[in-house]
Amino acid sequence: MRRLVIVSNRVANPACDQAHGGLAVCVLDSLRKRGAMWFGWNGAIVTDEAEIDVATAKFGDLTLMTMPLAERDYREYYLGFANAALWPVHHNRLDLACFTQENIEGYRRVNDRFAGTLMPLLAPSDLIWVHDYHFIPLGAGLRARGAANSIGFFLHIPFPTPDVLVAMPEHEWLINSLCGYDLVGFQTKTDQANFCRFVCDFMGGEMISDEVIRVADKLVSASVFPVGIDVDAFASIAKNPKATKLIQRLRSVRELRMNVIGVDRLDYTKGLPDRLRAFKRVIELYPQNRRAVTLMQIATPTREDVRAYADIRHELEALSGEINGEFGDFDWTPVRYIHRRIARDTLAALYRGSHVGLVTPLRDGMNLVAKEYVAAQDEGNPGVLILSRFAGAAEDLQEALIVNPYDADEVAHAMQIAINMPLAERIERHGALMARVRQQDACAWMEGFLDALADCGQRRANMDPRSFCVRS
Ligand code: UDP
Repeated sequence: MRRLVIVSNRVANPACDQAHGGLAVCVLDSLRKRGAMWFGWNGAIVTDEAEIDVATAKFGDLTLMTMPLAERDYREYYLGFANAALWPVHHNRLDLACFTQENIEGYRRVNDRFAGTLMPLLAPSDLIWVHDYHFIPLGAGLRARGAANSIGFFLHIPFPTPDVLVAMPEHEWLINSLCGYDLVGFQTKTDQANFCRFVCDFMGGEMISDEVIRVADKLVSASVFPVGIDVDAFASIAKNPKATKLIQRLRSVRELRMNVIGVDRLDYTKGLPDRLRAFKRVIELYPQNRRAVTLMQIATPTREDVRAYADIRHELEALSGEINGEFGDFDWTPVRYIHRRIARDTLAALYRGSHVGLVTPLRDGMNLVAKEYVAAQDEGNPGVLILSRFAGAAEDLQEALIVNPYDADEVAHAMQIAINMPLAERIERHGALMARVRQQDACAWMEGFLDALADCGQRRANMDPRSFCVRS
């Protein structure tokens, strides 16, 4: 089997449970079995570029190769271009995007350095899989250095419509870089269609089949691989004795009376203020919910060095204080707002103990919390998932109550339906959702992508070698 080389901004440490929490056991097993190298940033920041060095750690046949970022790289590449330009543009928030020449140069510089460091570590038969928006030009950097390997890219975040994308400086360079990969994977059909439309309408591309575009002298496949979770592993932690004890304890003090749960990084894309406003409406419009229903919102700190993230935190704290002040009572706090990271086993128990899972991002690549909520439920007495139509997960999880997160009254109405949904309907919806979550689990995602990349490799082997070159 060909060695797999994974490149991602952060590298999970298989020795640390919390760090690889989101990484399915089956994915990790598969990496160990086939022999893999995982290359990326180690999370450290050094003051001087001269201190940048590659560190190696081995876990059986899985080798981690990591390096730090210089302070300037962290500022320009990570905070600057990746998180203050690409992230907002891809989530339709042009109003929050910040474009500066320094940041674009920083992004180019770091991608070029990572490509240059990786190149001598590669064998000709390696299958290379690059992840996410931090490393869009990395594949082109490898090609420019002569790599003829099969190289695939997976975009974990949404792909914007062409009219939004063109607002970003250097968008043609970025999309041309994407076209240098053999395979570009997307979370949803909508993302894939947006990409194909851009390449065909703005770059002279031509669809030669549903998933293959010819652009200049290259062929690039654009396919859909929805990210999934390790369903059985998650379901089993949700019902282990520790989880059951936690649920019983919270129920005994009536903390989980009728609990609506939200779990998100505190990101402006997650629609948290809109969600709180919708919760306020459910107590205003349906007074029977007063003293009866609680919203538990876990909002994990994230990217606090980016200005827009500090603003959203203040907004959320003010809103939860306002709702609790207006409606709360001696024995009822309507909104429980928790601003810290919660361990996955505790989360699994909280999902299982909650009657409603409220997942209402304004835009989201996939949203794994929605899938985890489904996996954690008691199938004999499941809770109800309310899901934003703008989450990638909504493309498949149609048996959830699908809502428009911008419309507070619509979300409040869905909450009211969820709170009162009869058991038979809850079981029926949950059964259908569980089947979909199972069908598109983490292993299906990984195997689907790697099989498609291997097929593209076959196509590459049959092609004229001159077509390997791309502009970098
Ligand atoms: N998560 C966690 N602890 C927290 C909050 C979130 O472990 O306090 C996990 C959650 O279980 C999920 C992931 O973080 O696996 C969030 O993934 P999702 O796709 O929903 O959103 P993202 O953060 O990638 O935008």
